[in-house]
Amino acid sequence: MNKIIDIKNLSKSYNDILAVDDVSYNVAKGEMFGLVGPDGAGKTTTIRTLCGLLITDSGEIEVLGYNLLKERKKIQNKIGYLSQKFSLYGDLTVDENIEFFADIHGVKDYENRSNELLEFTRLTPFKDRLAEKLSGGMKQKLALACSLIHKPQIIFLDEPTTGVDPVSRRDFWKILSNLLKEGITIFMSTPYLDEAERCNRVALMSNGKIISLDTPQKIKGSLEKDVIEIVCNKIREAYKLIQQNFPFEIQMFGDRINIIVDEYETDYKRIEKLLNDNSIEILNHRLITPSLENVFIHLVQEAN
Ligand code: ADP
Repeated sequence: MNKIIDIKNLSKSYNDILAVDDVSYNVAKGEMFGLVGPDGAGKTTTIRTLCGLLITDSGEIEVLGYNLLKERKKIQNKIGYLSQKFSLYGDLTVDENIEFFADIHGVKDYENRSNELLEFTRLTPFKDRLAEKLSGGMKQKLALACSLIHKPQIIFLDEPTTGVDPVSRRDFWKILSNLLKEGITIFMSTPYLDEAERCNRVALMSNGKIISLDTPQKIKGSLEKDVIEIVCNKIREAYKLIQQNFPFEIQMFGDRINIIVDEYETDYKRIEKLLNDNSIEILNHRLITPSLENVFIHLVQEAN
């Protein structure tokens, strides 16, 4: 593997809070790497550390072959960072915002690059619009364009599509796919598991630890249990009854219950009897292929 990021025994704490707890992994050149996990898992801290914005407590990190602690300056202009709080200047136009970030990064002849990025993000028709007048999705695309002005080799994205509408999210993802084709390495955190599915590899983080790291396919295949999906009336009552009577893990998804069992046939019969005995009508049931969400909830619960 051609490692572009190499993390060894990284820990980072804030006073007595251990935000990142002795993690080791690496990211390959050209990879789309996803960091997934609940709020407070340590994702932002990891990203900020890898960008050299936070000092680690311990551990060794290499980015692009440079030691992050000792050679930060050599890395700075080769990486891009789109933080959750990335601030555009509302009173500047789209064009002027890009120009501003070009200045910050010391990019001199940025016009071609700027036009390229505007085309890339389909913002050319809006280049004279004030940033504050853009929709949420467009703002996020402009923020991405600004963080790419200096042609970074790695881009770090911290929950880039949180709060962005579904259509703009799709648009944003098309841009990311094109970035990958250009050879950029993408390291992103996301709370969305459908986005995690699109990554080459995913690391699940919980309480500062990496509790699973693999391709989405392999992670899904790692659950050596059956998942029964049930749709029924009185869903909350059904949830409570199953919880009180069986040792199975139960996951609720709106009007569906997913139950992680050892063996579909026998365990379903027991659950069916329990619900029928309590006058709950099962409207639909089936054995489903575990989703990334099923496995992640399972792993986080197990880790806790
Ligand atoms: P995530 O991005 O996965 O939500 P964070 O990296 O933001 O997680 O936070 C990890 C842990 O560190 C949390 O418990 C959070 O409350 C704590 N934390 C984050 N930033 C600070 C800070 N500046 N000061 C103190 N605690 C912090």
